Amino acid sequence: MKKTLIAAALVALASTATMAQDNNFDYSVDRFADIQVLRYQVPGFEQLTLNQKKLVYYLTEAALQGRDILTDQNCKYNLQVRQTLEAIYTTYKGNKNSAEFKALEKYLKQVWFANGIHHHYAKDKFTPEFSQKFFNARVKALPKSKLPLAKGQTKSSFIKVMDKVIFDKNFMAKAVNLAAGQDLITTSANNLYEGVTQKEVEAYYAAIKDPNDKTPVSYGLNAKVVKENGKVVEKVYKMGGLYSAAIKKIVANLKEAMKYAENAEQKAYIQKLVDFYTTGSLRTFDEYSILWAQETKSDVDFVNGFIENYGDPLSMTGAWESLVNFRNKAASERTTLISNNAQYFENASPTDPRFKKESVTGVSAKVITAAILAGDCYPSTPIGINLPNSNWIRAQYGSKSVSIENITDAYDQVAAGTGFSDEFAYSDVELNLMKKYLTLADKLHTDLHECLGHGSGKMLPGVDVSVLKNYRSTLEETRADLFALYHMADPKLIELGIFKEADTYKAEYYKYIMNGLLTQLTRIEPGKDIEEAHMRNRKLISEWCYQKGKADNVIEYVKRDGKTYVRINDYVKLRNLFGQLLAEVQRIKSEGDFEACRSLVETYAVKFDPEIHKEILARYAKLDIAPYKGFVNPIYTLVKDKKGNITDVKITYGEGYTQQMLRYSRDYSPLTK
Ligand code: ZN
Repeated sequence: MKKTLIAAALVALASTATMAQDNNFDYSVDRFADIQVLRYQVPGFEQLTLNQKKLVYYLTEAALQGRDILTDQNCKYNLQVRQTLEAIYTTYKGNKNSAEFKALEKYLKQVWFANGIHHHYAKDKFTPEFSQKFFNARVKALPKSKLPLAKGQTKSSFIKVMDKVIFDKNFMAKAVNLAAGQDLITTSANNLYEGVTQKEVEAYYAAIKDPNDKTPVSYGLNAKVVKENGKVVEKVYKMGGLYSAAIKKIVANLKEAMKYAENAEQKAYIQKLVDFYTTGSLRTFDEYSILWAQETKSDVDFVNGFIENYGDPLSMTGAWESLVNFRNKAASERTTLISNNAQYFENASPTDPRFKKESVTGVSAKVITAAILAGDCYPSTPIGINLPNSNWIRAQYGSKSVSIENITDAYDQVAAGTGFSDEFAYSDVELNLMKKYLTLADKLHTDLHECLGHGSGKMLPGVDVSVLKNYRSTLEETRADLFALYHMADPKLIELGIFKEADTYKAEYYKYIMNGLLTQLTRIEPGKDIEEAHMRNRKLISEWCYQKGKADNVIEYVKRDGKTYVRINDYVKLRNLFGQLLAEVQRIKSEGDFEACRSLVETYAVKFDPEIHKEILARYAKLDIAPYKGFVNPIYTLVKDKKGNITDVKITYGEGYTQQMLRYSRDYSPLTK
């Protein structure tokens, strides 16, 4: 539950590259629906040693082999839909400029991007713009061998199922439902549960959890919960279990990668991960997480497994993801400074001393360069990650926190010159603040959020954070954001030499409030509520501060020429409000106060003014910016000599979006063969 996504508001910025980059690099790859696809550079790859390059290579192979797992986790029909659409797309002989074919292509691109039929962020099912008639005719024209028919399934019964899945907008309408008061399991279309109710799932886990266990495993992390012969059981993701075909390939590549591990500790954690995939044992996963969190010497590092639980309305099952990366040494000096001062920030927090950590252990932070994005990190990707997620492991063994700077740099390059901040910032004062300071301020926000925010504070004895249920992710992101916002304005950052000028934090404050109250609404369709955890958290913080600061006019809505803006009148008071809310949010987490948590989220984070929303959407539409972005990966190729020895690993960037997706479906699709 610890990843940071880019905010909707990206401001035009000067180049921020921190390493030698190609200035003529072509970042733009594709554009469709509400999506822009980019590519990212991997500066520094050529400078890695041959062993490190080999390590990266096999880890990227292990990463790509997991793509189908995530797609299947998102919804049980996703792989069939993808295969069917790809079969139509690649064999179509008719007019490729026809409206029907174009619409099918757009839908397929959306399905690729979301790893399924539900929007990757809004979680609503996509609406196809091609006709059912066209689709049915195309499927009928395909040979049976091209279709992912279940055993004994006829073509016509297959078409019936696909019609319902693709065209019936009420069937599996939402991938993840977080609406209060409903059965969140039966109303969510994801494939993490089947044939069970929320009550049954909760009863199942309540029965196997030991309330006195101080080191509990992450229950449900690697399993689908189903009913067999009337009994609730877990189907575990492991070798020989669910997703075995993909896991086998992942393991084979991890074993190959292990040969090139940078040190014995790294080798040991890769072996543990292999053991975990082999047995499915969550104890083994915890052992792996501990070894991984403690290994901080290697340059190359990676995540590969069932990690984040945003896709599960009960926040238990991990979505499969992988990210392979290596250290950006120059930029890591900044995060090292911050993590070395972790205890200072913990002590300086405005939270009740009962909820503070007496000693902050092992927060290691670095700036990294992503080498491959996969599973839940692809194509839409976080800009910062903090792992492991297990609370007791974080408390006892620390955590690793990363800021992914080559991704941030790509965003910044593309955002420059879109006119976004000119349209939404209140005046030149705010614009100039952001132009001058936001690049650095944004990085610090990510650093503080990831390195320190998630790791800060402690639970009261005996309190299990899962009591916060469907509000848990939102509250956790709120807490990490508030920690970052509050401490950004601490003169300590100037003292440490990270900020040069005292006003730097104001750029982040303004962007944050503008985004939370106004511009993130560009991502919401008319009539919908705010659902996604990060968006809810940004709204929660901004709205709460607006309401609580009303008497002092801390934040103000200003109307000018029919357009709505926000203005911050008192940055110091705003910081105090962040501090007050941080204290309360920490209390809620530490005490596991579900009712206060529910009330905070439902009051401040979900609803907004539909009139302002309409206006923001209209202004945004004129700018013609895609609200969501994602990335294609570079290609890594082994270079071998005549004897077959690997002499180098080559990186190339030219691949297009459709090309890459079709190649992955062809070469990395162990669950569809
Ligand atoms: Zn976070």
